Amino acid sequence: IQSEYLKLQEQKESNARAYPRHFPLVISKAKGMIVTDTEGRQYYDCLAGAGTLALGHNPDVVVEAIREMLDQQIPLHTLDLATPLKLAFMEELFSLLPEQMRDHAKIQFCGPTGADAVEAAIKLVKTATGGRSILAFHGSYHGSTQATMAMSGNLSKKQHLQSLLPDVHFLPFPYEYRCPFGVGGEMTAQLSAQYIEHVLDDCESGIAAPCGVIVETVQGEGGAIPAQIEWLRELRRITAERGIPLIIDEVQTGFGRTGRMFSFEHAGIVPDVIICSKAVGGSLPMSVILYKEELDRWQPGAHTGTFRGNQMAMATGLATLRYLREQRVLDNVQQRSQQMMTRLRSLQAIIPAIGDVRGRGLMIGIEMVEPSGTPDRLQHFPASGRIAEAVQRRCFANGMIIEVGGRHSSVLRFLPPLVITEQETETVLRIFERSIYEALA
Ligand code: PMP
Repeated sequence: IQSEYLKLQEQKESNARAYPRHFPLVISKAKGMIVTDTEGRQYYDCLAGAGTLALGHNPDVVVEAIREMLDQQIPLHTLDLATPLKLAFMEELFSLLPEQMRDHAKIQFCGPTGADAVEAAIKLVKTATGGRSILAFHGSYHGSTQATMAMSGNLSKKQHLQSLLPDVHFLPFPYEYRCPFGVGGEMTAQLSAQYIEHVLDDCESGIAAPCGVIVETVQGEGGAIPAQIEWLRELRRITAERGIPLIIDEVQTGFGRTGRMFSFEHAGIVPDVIICSKAVGGSLPMSVILYKEELDRWQPGAHTGTFRGNQMAMATGLATLRYLREQRVLDNVQQRSQQMMTRLRSLQAIIPAIGDVRGRGLMIGIEMVEPSGTPDRLQHFPASGRIAEAVQRRCFANGMIIEVGGRHSSVLRFLPPLVITEQETETVLRIFERSIYEALA
């Protein structure tokens, strides 16, 4: 049966399809970390809906929330009209915000995808500041609509589209391993922050008065690259001093993924706008922006759309957020992260094709390199998409789904459910280790 389904997909699905290319399976069932295909084969899912499935597949609390909605005739669609569910969801979401923001924050429900919320955030700050240009970072990813692609720093995905949105300027992201300044270590963050300050103070740089700066605290699609905590603090200081709204894209990092509810909490900073999607809908499509109330200067009806604030996603989102808070899932994220990082770093010490192991929480990247290539200024070998893909294939053959990303798709990215157990972590690490050796054999 599986090959028939896959043939149909090959014939009928767009050439732009992405995940189905890497993972040729037809999923018939899923629970927790395990997906089962139509032939009964099982896979450990370390992609988890691209970071969406905080509690894994079909968690009991989510299934229960859906059942309750149907049993009690809770409406499935109300545009964005109020329901007790919507109010309860908002209350839960606000309760998770840092104290400094909680009582002065506004929410805008956006369309179902992360890109919808990014678009809304840009409209919000453009309206509030009257500015036009946006600052973004090399290697960033903010979505696949035209404006969000314009702000994504990966040229390979967009250069053929000619023009998208003109007023985006890119700044160097403090990527320590491939340091844009060729120095590495602490200096990466320092020089990057100094550079940003320099261009903002130079009225001839063309980017002295942007309407906002948009950043991921850990670049996800860019290859699980964490920005240094000190750099995040500097970015907050620099933007605050100049009155530039700081927009943090928490689409992938939000809701516990990095070990804190919001990833900016690691730096003790508060942004002006927070973009949320993925986990916030508890398996169903949902996105929102949360922002400081002084930015709320757009007019009634300035941002409309039919499918904003989907009711069922509020029910599943509410169940997920409550579970994360009540069951102290973030503690598990920190412990499992340590377990993974320790093991991956010891592998790195003995396998030259593992160039870098990095991440924050359960957003972990392993950058594969070509040890026979010419090293760069920091003595790091060239990134190897070829080896990463070979490892990914062996992982799949050994019963594990893991995504690649980053420059030249050279980074294997662990994004497991946040409730992954110690035993499951051990198992996926073992599969991973075996797959690397097989790929390099
Ligand atoms: N921002 C970030 C940081 C993301 O990781 C993603 C999705 N991977 C998006 C925005 C876009 O979200 P969506 O795919 O739901 O449009």
